[in-house]
Amino acid sequence: MARSSILRIVGLLACSGLLVAGCANDPEESAAGKTSAAAQPAAGTSSNQSQSPGTLPRVTILATGGTIAGKANANSAVGYTAGEATAQDLIDAVPGLDKIAALQAEQISNIGSQDMNDEVWLKLADRINEIFAADGADGIVVTHGTDTIEETAFFLDHVVASPKPVVLVGSMRPSTALSADGPANLRSGVQVAADPAARDRGTMVVLNDTIHGATDVTKSNTTSLQTFVSPNTGPIGHVDAAAVTFAEPAEQQTRLGFPVPDSAPLPRVDIIYSHAGMDATAVNDALGHGARGLVLAGVGDGNTAKPVVSALSAAAGKGVLVVRSSRVGSGAVVRNAELNDDELGTVSALGLNPAKSRILLQLLLVNGVTDPQQVQRDFAAAS
Ligand code: ASP
Repeated sequence: MARSSILRIVGLLACSGLLVAGCANDPEESAAGKTSAAAQPAAGTSSNQSQSPGTLPRVTILATGGTIAGKANANSAVGYTAGEATAQDLIDAVPGLDKIAALQAEQISNIGSQDMNDEVWLKLADRINEIFAADGADGIVVTHGTDTIEETAFFLDHVVASPKPVVLVGSMRPSTALSADGPANLRSGVQVAADPAARDRGTMVVLNDTIHGATDVTKSNTTSLQTFVSPNTGPIGHVDAAAVTFAEPAEQQTRLGFPVPDSAPLPRVDIIYSHAGMDATAVNDALGHGARGLVLAGVGDGNTAKPVVSALSAAAGKGVLVVRSSRVGSGAVVRNAELNDDELGTVSALGLNPAKSRILLQLLLVNGVTDPQQVQRDFAAAS
């Protein structure tokens, strides 16, 4: 289905018969971020100063775990366990949060995000779509571990059927740490989710006063508070105590609008990490375990050693979808440059990193897309 048609359906679903604040009359207009100035400021700063309770935006917090819900181990100076505090504990740690939005909270899971999986993704996505379809919230905040927050954000970005904002927040320090960053990040996330200017921007990640889009955001440092970056595009906005500021007008350019898959697990797609002195063992192992798709985390511009190139091309010849991404961390993998995708039967990931390429390939496979040329077009639309 053409992207404009998908966006039209998303817009229609969101606006049909529902009292959605700021919903444009024309869904095409809404999808393009051209809602009227009265309904939605296109860009710039909107104030989050507190309003009277009856007029507060409604924000639902869905908690999944992570360090933001982590607690210190009693016998260690540095050790902690992720996913111990509840959604309500997180809210209670932020004075005045109920002055920004009328809050609801639900616990979806309580796990470290290194254990995030297809089952939780489907549960989370179904719940978000259910809340928005029932007009149960103006925005949703998901609390999440930082290790895989970019993956969950990317997945949700392509399966949430609403122009309303979904904001993922996490923290680098557990809730019991000195200068824990979770409470401030949760406050920022609620500010963004409550802001009318956040509509039509898909799923976002908010940490350390910075708003990132789901397509480009990635974790760049193992422990620093300033770890999230958007290496190809830069952040899409900033938050301070009083205001949310977006750099550009909203334009919903990346969402492909897939239905939430019916059941887990999603089709198996393995990531092949390239390095010097590599042979084809990892490719053959993945195929032996039933991979229907392979993502190369290539060196440089999605490159790899000759035996691996041959094995990947042979796999593509047998109908396995093969995507060339890069382990470098920024930049786009160029189609038909040093490796010729046309000859190899491979797809270039363009701007998507290996983890996000894997998710897009899973979503395409589960929706029956198996033609490499169509896969290439979808990577172009999503990156
Ligand atoms: N391992 C933790 C997690 O991803 C790290 C964090 O949240 O910062 O759940």
